[in-house]
Amino acid sequence: MVSSLLRWFKKNARDLPWRRTRDPYAIWISEIMLQQTQVKTVIPYWERWMRELPDATALAAAPEQRVLKLWEGLGYYTRARNLQKAARSIVEQFNGEFPRDFDAVLALPGVGRYTAGAIYSIAFNQPAPILDGNVIRVLTRLHAIHQNPREKQVNERLWQLAASLVATAAAIPNSEFRIPNSITGNCSALNQSLMELGATVCTPRSPKCGECPVRPHCDALAQNLVEQLPNIGARTVATQRRFAALVATHGDRVLVRQRPGDVVNARLWEFPNVELTNGDTVAPNSFAQFTPRLSPLASFCTIRHTITRYRITVEAFRADAESARAADGCVWIPRSELEHLPFTSAHAKIRSKLFESS
Ligand code: SF4
Repeated sequence: MVSSLLRWFKKNARDLPWRRTRDPYAIWISEIMLQQTQVKTVIPYWERWMRELPDATALAAAPEQRVLKLWEGLGYYTRARNLQKAARSIVEQFNGEFPRDFDAVLALPGVGRYTAGAIYSIAFNQPAPILDGNVIRVLTRLHAIHQNPREKQVNERLWQLAASLVATAAAIPNSEFRIPNSITGNCSALNQSLMELGATVCTPRSPKCGECPVRPHCDALAQNLVEQLPNIGARTVATQRRFAALVATHGDRVLVRQRPGDVVNARLWEFPNVELTNGDTVAPNSFAQFTPRLSPLASFCTIRHTITRYRITVEAFRADAESARAADGCVWIPRSELEHLPFTSAHAKIRSKLFESS
């Protein structure tokens, strides 16, 4: 099975920019960006990040607002903050050199067993296993594992299966499956083949079993269980949340506020807003707490955004302010400077609409 995967990967590996390097820093950034985010979305973000912050020393020294700006739109901003915390540890503990010791990589903020395994196998070609959503799907189907992969024992079994595959790959001479013009070794190729198979062939819906390199080994296919696996249990029920946001202008300036440091999306920027409960509608004085004496509100746009289990709707309203008074925490910013601030994903969409309408 391992040889089939390596042979298939050699022919079918997508040419992704982070596959042209073995720089552990570059691979780490790609792995963190790829969590919860599609490859095609990540490519321009990764390329820009690597141009602007090419190593751990540059990342450690960058102002947080610049880091968040480079991340703007990817969401889950804790990932960006943890990258910077980890870069600072790399500078302090390892003089800016990415650690080569697995436990040291695992100890970095925001790095779990999966990310450490990915960096260790891809950058250093070491036989460390990886297990993400794609690999879980492939392995539960290959072995027709009926139990929920989130259960502790099942999850540990999957880690062992992944470990056994990469250990087998490590024992095969690298030259046998070497990808032309590539520096990728077998441990790297095996782990990436599992991820690639899950992303492109063994997909959640309508997997392409006819094209699959490991179909002779697949128990789910033999038992006609492909569509039922993996068994991830009942989906979490989505929670709806509604907000009303104010896009207030005073001359050339726009009213915005920075979120506090102890909440979700800490220190990102947004338009002042209020959460609406069930039947609430927006009243003329709904935004008086942010700035007084507004012109009548005009409906501007509606943004829908999903994050974890939340389905968020933001209704934005425009108004002119008679004075430049602003509540604590709110500031009037020249319109031309708005694009330099890192905004939350939903409010970045409102900002784009504002630019389009100007
Ligand atoms: Fe997945 Fe089908 Fe391949 Fe089995 S045969 S691993 S279900 S794509």
